[in-house]
Amino acid sequence: MKRKRSYQTLFAVLTILAAALLAFAQPPRAVDTVITHGKVYTLDAQHPWAQAVAIADGKIVSVGEDAQIEKLRGPGTKVIDAAGRLVLPGFVDCHIHFLDGSLSLGRVNLEGAKDTSDIQQRLRDYAAKHPGKDWVLGRGWNYAMFGAETLPHKKYLDAIFPDRPVFLEGFDGHTYWANSKALALAGITNATPDPPNGAIVRDPKTHEATGALKESAQRLVSRIAPKPSRNENLEALRAGMKWANEHGLTRVHSAGGDFEYLDLFEELRRAGQQSLRFYIAYFLNPPELRAQDVTAISAARKKFHDDWIDANVVKMMIDGVVESHTAAMLEPYSDDPSTKGKLFWDPAKYTFAVTELDRAGLQLFTHAIGDYGVRTALDAYEHAQHVNHTQDRRPRIEHIETIAAADIPRFGKLGVIASMQPLHSYPDADTLDIWARNAGPDRASRAWAWKSIANDGGHLAFGSDWPVVTLNPWEGVQTAVTRQTTEGKPGAGFVPEQRLTVAETVRGYTLDAAYAGRREKTEGSIEPGKLADLIIVSQNIFEIDAHRLGETKVLTTIVGGRVVYQAPAK
Ligand SMILES: [Zn+2]
Repeated sequence: MKRKRSYQTLFAVLTILAAALLAFAQPPRAVDTVITHGKVYTLDAQHPWAQAVAIADGKIVSVGEDAQIEKLRGPGTKVIDAAGRLVLPGFVDCHIHFLDGSLSLGRVNLEGAKDTSDIQQRLRDYAAKHPGKDWVLGRGWNYAMFGAETLPHKKYLDAIFPDRPVFLEGFDGHTYWANSKALALAGITNATPDPPNGAIVRDPKTHEATGALKESAQRLVSRIAPKPSRNENLEALRAGMKWANEHGLTRVHSAGGDFEYLDLFEELRRAGQQSLRFYIAYFLNPPELRAQDVTAISAARKKFHDDWIDANVVKMMIDGVVESHTAAMLEPYSDDPSTKGKLFWDPAKYTFAVTELDRAGLQLFTHAIGDYGVRTALDAYEHAQHVNHTQDRRPRIEHIETIAAADIPRFGKLGVIASMQPLHSYPDADTLDIWARNAGPDRASRAWAWKSIANDGGHLAFGSDWPVVTLNPWEGVQTAVTRQTTEGKPGAGFVPEQRLTVAETVRGYTLDAAYAGRREKTEGSIEPGKLADLIIVSQNIFEIDAHRLGETKVLTTIVGGRVVYQAPAK
């Protein structure tokens, strides 16, 4: 026995020696790709700036000066000359509804419309391009577009589409707008009762449905509207990935609507068509965590847990939105003292679900917009940490549109991540006239308080909530830095003390975004050993006027060492 073992040891030593000699005899293998002549902002604290990057096998292998990276170049190496442009880590969108957004690319987009006549013009243009009797589907209107009425009305749609059903989602996904034809097809009459957690808005005199459908009432129409086929969904996802890459995104964190379609993402991966990395949350509905939820979550995390598709996360929604008074507040709404909104979950059942899922090692996203919603989520996370003795789970709160002053330091203290969407604070009429009016001046003084949260040690993670707003992160960067509209309003900025620097904002879309997805060891900065997810952009965002940040164009997007987007040459 003893003798045999020593032979084995000898054999092992010889094998290692042979391998070492072989490695020594061969020249070092040339790298796959080099990026040269760049202004590389690495987010590596030791070496924040570099000129060049070398990539092999989908990973960054070296970062440094041009001369040093040149040496790694071989005859087969692809050379990308950045021509003095800014090179950044790939951007991450930490809050997205990817399939919904992807489908919206082929539908009417009302985002940014000025008023009802502008909306009608866009609908006419769409109808001219898509003639026929099919449904007209789209999204993106907001409450301010209807002036003093604040809610949409079917009359504006009936005027253009008397016979063709029209169904349009509001920008926030909480209210929908149908024309008379769609209401008729759905069988909505004066006698139709409101469903639980929803309202069919009616004319106070005639009791007739106006076409505005709040919260769950939209299901009366959506259940009869045409559903995309599997192929249409796949087609939309391909278009969505392309759109995301064009804007510099290399990973997204899905906050709902995608988990049910994990098989489609898997199909794209197998076909070699995946050009974006996905972190996909299971959406856990109230009233409670059930056995079938646990089964679905366990099966998905067992199957999807790598760099490309990861399903180790659960999303919950504790409240609604400020505009429709459904966000849960500690004190009554300023414009309507009869309501404080309310929690969608019973706090005890929510805390139980959080605690169970935290114990199982899952990350948690909780949508919380009102200050009471935010506090409830912080309390539940604190409880879970305490009873499970867990550390560094990095539970997240999504949105945090307003917050009690006392809760600001709890993000840093508890290690809770603040996942926020800069463009939601965009100070247009919807924000200043409706959001701020409903919240009132005190709560509005802590609107989207990312700087205060970060100053107290909290980690920020930025995203869009696409299709709620565009996924274009550069408009988000501009809003986080200026807290103004593109026209520079309001002049002093909306709660200007919450403005961030460009560097802080970039961090929220890259290294801190990776941290917020528990992937900062392999993503989020340009350092050897990390995944080669990088972008080259049109302008040096650290040197330009902040009001031009939103104009940034992405020239090249690289995911896993592969160029997935290249801007057309001018
Ligand atoms: Zn969302």
